Amino acid sequence: MTTPVIDGWFTVDDGTAHLLGTRCADCRTVHFPPRTGPCRNPHCDGETLVQVRLPRRGTVWSYTNACYPPPAPFVAADPYEPVTLAAVELAGEGIVVLGQVKGLTVDDLHVGMELELIASPLADGPLVWMWSAPGTGDTNGADHTAKAGTGATRAPGTSAAPERRGEGVA
Ligand SMILES: [Zn+2]
Repeated sequence: MTTPVIDGWFTVDDGTAHLLGTRCADCRTVHFPPRTGPCRNPHCDGETLVQVRLPRRGTVWSYTNACYPPPAPFVAADPYEPVTLAAVELAGEGIVVLGQVKGLTVDDLHVGMELELIASPLADGPLVWMWSAPGTGDTNGADHTAKAGTGATRAPGTSAAPERRGEGVA
């Protein structure tokens, strides 16, 4: 049984993963991770943030791999296998979200290519969001459970890079 590693940052319904963000009711700026309180847009006085499901596809903004295990509290599988990480700009939203890439290496990636959100378990069991090639992320409960332990499911997928491109200094 797998459960989301962070409550409230993403959801999986009928096998389809969605990141959860908040959208300002005044200026429409999207925040990820979801937040409460005033809008982060420095040019907006809005204080009403509404939870939204973020687009499941985006384009690669940058990518790398991690050839050594991240420090605790990350639970790395032993033996450790390098993982691929990508910062993906969500379609139409102008925000970039970092995640592990499942099933692809840095040799497979290039800036601008499209990736799709999935949910997959880390080595120690908790479910995290990951990026994958479009069309391969048609996950359901049995599917991503079955893929646990394939060696391609461990990474700091809990990291998030919520910076907005083009946003001014805070
Ligand atoms: Zn706003």
